[in-house]
Amino acid sequence: MRRTAFVSRGTITPKPGKCRYCRKRLERIGEKIHPDCVGPWWEQNREKVQTQARKLKAKTPTKWADECQSIINAIARLRDRHDGCISCHMGANYGGQWHGSHFRSVKAASALRFHLWNIHKACAQCNLHKSGNIAAYTPRLIAKMGQERVDWLYSQNQTVKRDIDYYKKFKRVMGERLRRLQARALREQQEAAV
Ligand SMILES: [Zn+2]
Ligand SMILES: [Zn+2]
Repeated sequence: MRRTAFVSRGTITPKPGKCRYCRKRLERIGEKIHPDCVGPWWEQNREKVQTQARKLKAKTPTKWADECQSIINAIARLRDRHDGCISCHMGANYGGQWHGSHFRSVKAASALRFHLWNIHKACAQCNLHKSGNIAAYTPRLIAKMGQERVDWLYSQNQTVKRDIDYYKKFKRVMGERLRRLQARALREQQEAAV
């Protein structure tokens, strides 16, 4: 209210701003840049603006990691397709959801997050509701892979930093491996059906 009265008395005349390119005074209020300055300003700032836009659109590392995780889990489930749950009595014919269950958790051993020795097929109950049911998981994993490999898993406590390039390469290589496994599993099913 006060401001309106102020302006109407003519004591303050709003002035146009300065051009964002040449810094000289603009002609009209609300203008940001001289029409002739748009071209050179864009030349100067194109890269910065485009990089910002790309960054905004870019996939977050978490999203990349999740995508890699679902690929490697799918590979583990296919590798174990003839097995039952690693952590309980549930047989291979169990009709519910199968998961890729980490022996050492992602939190405890990030280095093993995508390691196939560390991921085995388990039923959803064991993986989700019993945190992997580790007490039963451990002896079965030793029986499956041998004590030596399990000891090696226990020894992997280093912190691993993965970047987008790692995830990209991982997706390419492991995605291909998954497709090959899927094709093989499909052939098996078809042969069994004959
Ligand atoms: Zn200008
Ligand atoms: Zn289970």
